[in-house]
Amino acid sequence: MSEYNAPLSDMKFVIHELAEFDNVIKLPAFADVSEDLVGPILDEAAKFSREVWGALNTVGDQTGCRVEDQAVVVPEGFAEAYQQFVEGGWPTLGFGPDYGGMGLPELIAQTTAEMWQAANIAFALCPLLNIGAATAIEAHASDELKQTWLPKLISGEWTGTMNLTESQAGSDLAAVRTKAEPAGDHYKISGTKIYITWGDQPFTENIVHLVLARLPDAPPGVKGISLFIVPKYLLNADGSIGEHNDVIPVSVEHKLGIHASPTCVMSFGDNGGAIGYLVGEENNGLACMFTMMNHARLGVGIQGLGISERAYQLAQAYAMDRVQGTVPGADGKVTIIHHPDVRRMLMLMKAHIEAMRALAYVTATATDFAHHCDDAQKRQHASARAALLTPVVKAWMTEVAQEVASLGVQVHGGMGFVEETGAAQHMRDARILTIYEGTTGIQANDLVRRKILLDGGAAMADMLNEMRVLDAELEAASGELDAVRTALAASVQHLEQATHWLLESAPGDANVAGSAAFNILMLTGTVAGGWQMARAALVADQKLQAGDSNKPFYQAKLITARFYAQHILSRSAGYFEAATAGSESIMALPEECF
Ligand SMILES: Cc1cc2nc3c(=O)[nH]c(=O)nc-3n(C[C@H](O)[C@H](O)[C@H](O)COP(=O)(O)OP(=O)(O)OC[C@H]3O[C@@H](n4cnc5c(N)ncnc54)[C@H](O)[C@@H]3O)c2cc1C
Repeated sequence: MSEYNAPLSDMKFVIHELAEFDNVIKLPAFADVSEDLVGPILDEAAKFSREVWGALNTVGDQTGCRVEDQAVVVPEGFAEAYQQFVEGGWPTLGFGPDYGGMGLPELIAQTTAEMWQAANIAFALCPLLNIGAATAIEAHASDELKQTWLPKLISGEWTGTMNLTESQAGSDLAAVRTKAEPAGDHYKISGTKIYITWGDQPFTENIVHLVLARLPDAPPGVKGISLFIVPKYLLNADGSIGEHNDVIPVSVEHKLGIHASPTCVMSFGDNGGAIGYLVGEENNGLACMFTMMNHARLGVGIQGLGISERAYQLAQAYAMDRVQGTVPGADGKVTIIHHPDVRRMLMLMKAHIEAMRALAYVTATATDFAHHCDDAQKRQHASARAALLTPVVKAWMTEVAQEVASLGVQVHGGMGFVEETGAAQHMRDARILTIYEGTTGIQANDLVRRKILLDGGAAMADMLNEMRVLDAELEAASGELDAVRTALAASVQHLEQATHWLLESAPGDANVAGSAAFNILMLTGTVAGGWQMARAALVADQKLQAGDSNKPFYQAKLITARFYAQHILSRSAGYFEAATAGSESIMALPEECF
């Protein structure tokens, strides 16, 4: 089992060369941010992720969590490691200074998030949800609630959770039944939530649950859902910790992966009602929760990236070490990295990871501009781009993570299937990523219906134009980029044609959007990843032409971009064909024939 080493060279390359760090720090909100500040923070995060959280990844998987006396027990070492996380100021990174945040760009916060996720994905879910909860409170709660709850959530002294799901309300949150009864200046909450990540833990003095519930006179469906803060412990008038609120973890699920993350059944109001405080307006809870979910969707995409990187590092080390077979032209037995098929697998992992990292960080930059740019037009443009790419980052990257983690097992041969190497844990841990925070199907629907059909394809057309502009630059570059140029041009055409087809076909057939959604999503992710790889290759080419001293890194980037073009962008033809085949053969089979 190998330790995790954050790939700082590639992270810093993407931050600076593709995700426009220099422009991000010109935004007024980041006036105090500089490379001198950020560089050491990333170096320290790499050290912390390797030495502290990374060291607990295997023990967390093997030990898991349990409920004892109405409280969750976590694996040994987690409480101390969480304390170190708080003492290091890591939870505060991406929040503004108003409530104690460090005020760094989302771009940098997500880069560190990649490290936490790669080091220990089950543990890193805790801050992921905490950040989402704090973001929703910051955006929608009253000043009084913000002052009461935000500083300790942002510092990480307390953690936040997200309580949406009920047994009859999964993808369909309109079916939420948890009740909220008005009771003076607060509400009494009662109901059962399931699958609540880090719903309880012993290492912070309080936990702030964000809960979706329904008022007695609420209209049916999503328009009748409200959002509440329901703390584990109520606060005394002076802000100190008071009585235990009427909320308990009933049990934790036994599950395929992320064993160290307690997935709780939470019971609210067994003894008369848990006290809750309304966030935002009554019946407007889902809109508030979307703030949290959007943040978490990017976060889960980053989980896909992190687990892929971890699986790759393990597979690469094994391929350098395992001796098996011979190859033409070499004497004696060779390590398996000499076999073309093993190299194919490692290249698929590496190229996908670099494309995902670029796409995720570029999307983080779009959110920085969407929130902080003072030019309204640029803000609107960035906002539309972030909205278009958020379901893609969530779903494409987590689908790719399945492939990458599975390849990690395959590179190990039989040793991948036994638990000893750790490759199997990465595959098990990755499996949840396409399910929670909205399944791939739900993200794909969001992409085609809300992000493409609703604006008549405008945001997509804008992105396609940017992709096409690259063609002239690729043509002018050295011949090394010819394969990239050809593949990108073909795949951009696939995406453009699929978008036109969708816009034309959807109005005439109610099943078209849902039938094509997955393939359009995968097509978008694959092409957007190829676009970022082409941008990376252009930078690498220029650096090499200029005689940059970091020759091996840039040469590797060119080769990886070429591999992506030939072996991954080529998939765009398949996604295009499947998407534009429409709904006929999907919907034709009578239900009784399944
Ligand atoms: C480990 C774990 C942690 C979780 N953490 C949390 C948490 O912290 N907080 C929380 O509130 N929830 C949490 N969840 C719940 C999670 O978000 C839901 O499981 C998820 O949204 C899917 O809901 P479901 O399980 O009811 O599946 P269903 O909604 O029943 O979906 C089943 C299948 O049908 C498909 N489907 C359903 N509706 C549609 C549709 N309209 N269009 C196309 N396809 C559709 C889905 O894509 C899926 O393939 C967690 C779940 C797990 C397993």
